[in-house]
Amino acid sequence: MAYPPPPTTPFGTQFAPIMTTASFKGGAWTETEVVPVAPIPFHPATHVFHYGSACFEGLKAHRGLDGSVRIFRLDRHVERFRGSTEVLMLPDPGVERLTDMVIRAVQANAAHVPVAPGSLYLRPTMIGTEPNIGAAGSPSKEAMLFVLCSPVGDYFAGGLRPLKIAVETEQPRTTPMFGRVKAAANYALALAITQQRKRELGVDQVLFAPHGDVAETGASNFMLIDDDRVVTKALDDSFLHGVTRDSLLTMARDLGYRVEERHVGLDEVISWAERGGEAALSGTAAVLAPVGTLAYKDREIRFGQGDIGKNTLRLRQALVDLHVGAVEDTHGWIRVV
Ligand SMILES: *Cc1c(COP(=O)(O)O)cnc(C)c1O
Repeated sequence: MAYPPPPTTPFGTQFAPIMTTASFKGGAWTETEVVPVAPIPFHPATHVFHYGSACFEGLKAHRGLDGSVRIFRLDRHVERFRGSTEVLMLPDPGVERLTDMVIRAVQANAAHVPVAPGSLYLRPTMIGTEPNIGAAGSPSKEAMLFVLCSPVGDYFAGGLRPLKIAVETEQPRTTPMFGRVKAAANYALALAITQQRKRELGVDQVLFAPHGDVAETGASNFMLIDDDRVVTKALDDSFLHGVTRDSLLTMARDLGYRVEERHVGLDEVISWAERGGEAALSGTAAVLAPVGTLAYKDREIRFGQGDIGKNTLRLRQALVDLHVGAVEDTHGWIRVV
């Protein structure tokens, strides 16, 4: 059987035909349904439309070299999603229900998992559905959970190329309480500043470095890389704990790199670039994307010769090899469905 090629449409604009859904009503979850993707009618008073009760996850199913369908680190994404629902005071879907809903969505769309570098991007989403515009200060008593699947190619238009990133030291990406969760509101908060910098500076993304403390971009973590080391901000509540970040750090250790999780100052990033080091963004969507230039105030800080660093490529390839089963899954990260 021939599997679909990687889509050439923009990331997230094409959808596999089936989704799984479940609803929370009267204090209990309904049975999971496996249904065609279609518009969902909601009352205009629905909680999420007014008070932002929404969170999501992003993970991928890959097409193995042997044709198998392989979900990457499902358990980690399920745990993180449950943490997001907790912060948003939405109902806990539970490990079993959410795991089952993701697996059944992937199985129903198995024929739509493209070959690498494409994949099936999975988007579990929960929204507050209580029809009540008086509930500004109370959690939605009803909710809907769905798992939408999107065949994707490369995240960044133009494929793998060195990115240009603006450094933002004044405006935060989100609020402290929401830093480590995938709340829909976080992306609304980062939108205006990201658009402004894109327009002014022609950048791909914004790197948030509040008061010089280098954290992450709007949807990916940031790493400094050279021949010996991978350096990234130590986990705290202010930023999103990427599953890709964790995976790459683990693989970097396996490959003999020294991994340093600690404070990363903007000064160090600049001197790292001057010494010929590499920088990259990590995330499910971006995988590991090389940073070519940082735009900071009136300066342009260049990593390498505007090309893609060899250590970045090596780490990226190690992760891609694991996704497709070209190397053994020694950490038990892959769920074949
Ligand atoms: C999703 C996300 C990431 C990357 O997380 P992964 O689990 O690696 O996909 C990083 N930062 C933000 C703000 C995110 O929303």
